[in-house]
Amino acid sequence: MAEARTELRSTAALRDTMSAYYKKLGDAVTHKSAPVAWCTSVGPAELLRALGFAVHFPENHAAMLGAGRTANKYLPVAHAQGYSQDICSYLTSDVGAYLAGESPLAAFGLSGVPRADVLVFNTNQCRDVRDWFEWYGRQWNAPVVGVNSPRSVGDVTDAEVDDVTAQLEALVPVLESVAGVRLDGGRLAAAMKAAREASELWERCLQTAANKPSPFTFFDGTIHMGPAVVLRGAPEAAAYYHVLLAELEERVRGGVQSVPGEALRLYWDGMPVWGRLRALSTTFAEFHTAVVASTYCNSWIFSMLDPADPWRSMARASVELFIARSDGPKERYIERMVELYGVDGIVFHDCRTCPNNTNTRYGMPRRLSEKLGIPTLVLDGDVNDLRCFSDEQARTNIEGFVEQLADARTHASRATR
Ligand code: SF4
Repeated sequence: MAEARTELRSTAALRDTMSAYYKKLGDAVTHKSAPVAWCTSVGPAELLRALGFAVHFPENHAAMLGAGRTANKYLPVAHAQGYSQDICSYLTSDVGAYLAGESPLAAFGLSGVPRADVLVFNTNQCRDVRDWFEWYGRQWNAPVVGVNSPRSVGDVTDAEVDDVTAQLEALVPVLESVAGVRLDGGRLAAAMKAAREASELWERCLQTAANKPSPFTFFDGTIHMGPAVVLRGAPEAAAYYHVLLAELEERVRGGVQSVPGEALRLYWDGMPVWGRLRALSTTFAEFHTAVVASTYCNSWIFSMLDPADPWRSMARASVELFIARSDGPKERYIERMVELYGVDGIVFHDCRTCPNNTNTRYGMPRRLSEKLGIPTLVLDGDVNDLRCFSDEQARTNIEGFVEQLADARTHASRATR
């Protein structure tokens, strides 16, 4: 029998925060209270907020389709439009849902995804986001603008930061003309300050999981990261993370475990499997294993954002992003996380339709295992396409991995006696 995870009280405040965000987005469409911009997850949200846009993040919408396990219903609709089964299933499920005229945003009073006045991408994560936005741009005859960021970045250079800075600054005239206002430096600094504050609080929330036992897991993080994603640059995000942090610190003081009987700790690299979050979290909990940290949840920590230097610091955040880096910096990053969170092993998700956020295909799991002396597991799956995920296979693999970790620990403790 699976042991239940300990739920967080803050979930009620999270729901309120997210509902208010969706409602405001709906108001922007229905009452024309603000122009609507679409933004990729690490696009220039602070700039859009400073210009008064209501900002929609289609990746959040696609994750809702995945988590609600409706994505597979919509994928064939996009495939029939010539969008391959091999490309991002966020893109294909979102486009398919639009063509089917359905959206989980209906629960918040919206009739579907909000029609964009402008779509603003940043290819720091992948090319798919640009193709995704251009599909909608053609539907609505709306401008699609953005930043073409360097990828596979080794050590970040000034030339790369200069390039992205110039591209960000070049967006301003287009965005001003859509918004019908001039960019106010004070509003941009305020949005940067709000983003930085929320980022610091989110980082502190995640780092509570360095405590043993951990009060918070990767699976909790995928849900509670919502405000960090959709409210970047707005004060509501920090307001929520004050609440969450207080509860997590209370848990640490009280020794409350997110996974009852925590015996093993893991790190997760790659995308979540949105339609199997609960199943995976229950399986790990059943084996008294806490997945305490992840590259994914950490990707919304933007410590470099600086209200006094908005353009270059936004550019640096874009270029330094984990997903945009080459394997060397990625491995050094994961090594630091393994040490910080004291994990026994690493789970790599090989996400079928997202090679961009999959780090299993060029030898990284083996290299890290040999260097760090800890086992790694590769789980096959997908972010939204559940045809690529097998519950039985995942369970068998996790069970075998946990046994391997437990054996490794027993040998290590015998060796030190
Ligand atoms: S990073 Fe992956 S999941 Fe995200 S939009 Fe790009 S291809 Fe899709």
